[in-house]
Amino acid sequence: MRTILITGANKGIGFETARQLAQLGNFVYLGSRDLANGQKAADQLKAAGISNVAAIQIDVTDTDSIRKAKTELDSQIGSLDVLINNAAIAGGQIQHMAEYSMDDIRSVFETNYFGAIQTTQIMLPLLRKASAPSIINVSSETGSLTMQTSAERPPNWSNFSTYAATKTALNALTVMLANELREQNITVNSVTPGYTATDLNQFKGFKHVSEGAVPIVKLAMSADRTATGKFFKDGGELPW
Ligand code: NAP
Repeated sequence: MRTILITGANKGIGFETARQLAQLGNFVYLGSRDLANGQKAADQLKAAGISNVAAIQIDVTDTDSIRKAKTELDSQIGSLDVLINNAAIAGGQIQHMAEYSMDDIRSVFETNYFGAIQTTQIMLPLLRKASAPSIINVSSETGSLTMQTSAERPPNWSNFSTYAATKTALNALTVMLANELREQNITVNSVTPGYTATDLNQFKGFKHVSEGAVPIVKLAMSADRTATGKFFKDGGELPW
């Protein structure tokens, strides 16, 4: 049974991704910064007959908590097939980079970007022990500089520019890591769920989580080892 760790899986798209991947026969660890919330989410899946899941405490901004989770996974399973860097925060309602406070900007980058880097660094030894390991970074259309500079760009995207910049940085991480890890047979890709109704956007998204999770699940299940350093969306690829 393949093993998958999803950060921020106690709710939203991460939780739904966990449900779908467990239903497909993987053993899924639901990362949660608050273990009680993760446990509650895992119990909900177990109550629905999905037993191949477990909660694990991970705050992606807390190096010690990630190290502890790595030690726990090492003793339980010894290797990890897929890491899904899903945990993120939205930041404030209006977050123009021209005015948003540096503390707030740093805090969004701390979770969405540095959080993904340190989780990846710490989990890499476990990924290296798997036969076909993958790293999936959950990104956003707003992180695409091509879309940000296109004439069709929605004007309200400026309201989320700090969040968007963290996802552009995350996409850069995808490309750099893919290049660094290609020879080690570790694939690294970005994927966007699309605009999905969750807490992140006060449930304004157009998609249901069951749809938002689909491109992430598809990537996690993919057997294509040549696909690395790419940015996927539902039904295709996105420009950087
Ligand atoms: P969500 O419902 O707000 O879920 C976010 C998850 O991340 C929660 O489990 C949250 O935990 C967790 N999290 C936040 N900070 C954390 C930290 N420091 N350590 C560990 N976990 C942390 O949002 P979502 O919409 O499902 O977002 C999932 C991913 O999809 C994110 O990467 C987001 O950027 C991306 N995305 C979403 C949309 C959309 O329209 N929803 C579109 C494009 C991309 P708590 O419950 O403890 O807060």
